Amino acid sequence: GSALPRPRATRVFTVANQKGGVGKTTTTVNLAAALAKAGMRVLAIDLDPQGNASTALGVEHRHDTISVYDVIVGDAPLSDVVQKSPEFDTLWCAPATIHLAGAEIELVSLVAREQRLRTALGAYLSSAEERFDYVFIDCPPSIGLLTINAFVAATEVLIPIQCEYYALEGLSQLLRNVDLIEKHLNPQLTVSTILLTMFDGRTRLANDVAEDVRKHFPEQVLGSVIPRAVRISEAPSHGQSVITYDPNSPGAVSYLEAAGEIAKRGAAA
Ligand code: ADP
Ligand code: MG
Repeated sequence: GSALPRPRATRVFTVANQKGGVGKTTTTVNLAAALAKAGMRVLAIDLDPQGNASTALGVEHRHDTISVYDVIVGDAPLSDVVQKSPEFDTLWCAPATIHLAGAEIELVSLVAREQRLRTALGAYLSSAEERFDYVFIDCPPSIGLLTINAFVAATEVLIPIQCEYYALEGLSQLLRNVDLIEKHLNPQLTVSTILLTMFDGRTRLANDVAEDVRKHFPEQVLGSVIPRAVRISEAPSHGQSVITYDPNSPGAVSYLEAAGEIAKRGAAA
């Protein structure tokens, strides 16, 4: 990839949308890989008990693998959990295991239950031998304590929007939640980025959704759009991002372009 500007400080994105199947995990994995391919130092944190981001980045997340669960519910440092992704030398992943499914309940009785990921990530980032450029946190499809932990640990929210579904209603609910977090728990949090995904330009619905979202959020929506592409959906079963699996496919190229836009916007900020 061509050279991208490095951000002045680590940018921490939470990839959120309370609807399932809209492309959160796919976006987390492929933006992380695209930025790592351009030489950025990137950490992906898998907060979804399904562990799909861990699978797609080729890192181990068996039942007994030490994982983000042990960080959030136990007191394990992130450094014990983070694994190097086999894809790129500058890409790491903190895997999720199925134990995270119980974390929503276990967190309720813990002290500072909303801040646990933030505290662990802060300690990890400040002790890293070389600065990370990007962190992407993949959220489960619900607003519970895990997603709240992600919002509290992040500075930017990235919302993937599936262009196959009338998205604006669900979006206003999400934005209200982000406002609440900003007011009460994390004043730094902003919705910096919206990415249109699974776009099929032949359908009227996809064009209508894209136009609507751009009209309402002209600053946030990236110019790059992710097409609905078979290679994107095939890549995870090979334990790879589409960036590695088929780097010249339209899906890979669109994620590389989106990553470039994100990097350039951050440099200007
Ligand atoms: P979420 O994390 O929001 O639940 P995923 O990223 O897991 O959503 O995507 C849901 C499904 O859609 C997955 O099977 C994924 O492979 C597929 N998918 C995501 N983005 C695309 C795309 N641009 N083209 C084709 N399939 C996609
Ligand atoms: Mg997911």
